[in-house]
Parts: sequence; structure tokens; C-alpha cells
Amino acid sequence: MGVRVLLVAVGAISVEMLSWVARQAEERFPGLDVRFLVPVWKEELPLSFYDPARMQYNATLVNGFLYDRYRPLIEPRRRLLVGVVGADGFVSGLNFVFGLASPEIGVASVYTARMRGPRLWERVLKVVVHETGHLLGLGHCSDPRCVMRFSNSLMELDEKGSRFCPRCLARLRRVVLGEG
Ligand SMILES: [Zn+2]
Ligand SMILES: [Zn+2]
Repeated sequence: MGVRVLLVAVGAISVEMLSWVARQAEERFPGLDVRFLVPVWKEELPLSFYDPARMQYNATLVNGFLYDRYRPLIEPRRRLLVGVVGADGFVSGLNFVFGLASPEIGVASVYTARMRGPRLWERVLKVVVHETGHLLGLGHCSDPRCVMRFSNSLMELDEKGSRFCPRCLARLRRVVLGEG
């Protein structure tokens, strides 16, 4: 069996966008049987993860929260969870993050507040695919078009593509299909 990724709306996120992102994201894993599932419910985050001075969520705490809450659904291996959060996020030491993956618990979160604009859906797609790549063991990539390229600004996010380069795809194959 392949990989199943629960794509959960957290807060002000349209299920219409998430459904589009899910279909598009699946195409980024050709032949790998990676499916993105969008639950019908929405999640809300406890206020205790919100830093009122920064007006941001602590992404590390959010990932831990999502893991605790969804553990029964994701614990059989090969199930992952990506929460798409309609707010801004940070980790200690960084002003903000577009997303944060915690591969050790199979959970990532994506923060859309800084991605708003006509390219919102495409940006969310790129970050969802990127963080899922991390959850499957990929690191950052130096290929300028590869979705695994690190991006720290909207310009960098818009410049890179939404697909894996051949090298990253080959690594994914080894991880997911156990080839080579
Ligand atoms: Zn990254
Ligand atoms: Zn790459």
C-alpha cells in the first residue's frame, strides 16, 4: 500500500481550495501511490498556541497538537498528516515559516497568511508538496525549479516549481517503493 496523507483544514481555509490542492499534489508523486485525503470537518487550534504579541501560531506546538489529536488515524505507518492553517506561523529563531514538517511524528503544518493573493492556491500547493517531501525523508534541493528548494520569501516561493526534480523523485521512489 502507498502513502496516505490527511490534508486537514485548520481555521479559515476553504475546502474547495484544499480539494484542488489534494488533486494537484497527487500528480506530483507519479507512480508512487501517494493519495491526499481531505476530511469533511475543520479543525480549530487552541488559543494557547497563539502568541498574541507576534500574532502568530507556534508551528512546533501546532504539529504536536495535530499529532496527539489525529494519532489513531495516522499511527499505522505510511499515514501522514498535513494541516493547512489559515493564519501565520513561526518557529523559535525565525520570523515566520510557510510550513514546518516534523518527520519524526509524520505531521506537518502549512501557514497561508503570507501567501494571500491571486497565486494563493498555487503557493499552498507548493508548500504542501514541499512539506510532504520532508515527511517522506527528503531534504532541501539546490535545483532552482525543484519544489524541495528552500524558500524564505514569496518571491522565492513563486520562482520555484511545484514538482520534484528527477533526483528528488528518484529518492522518493527508493523511500516509498523501497526500490534500489
Ligand atoms: Zn523545507
Ligand atoms: Zn530536487
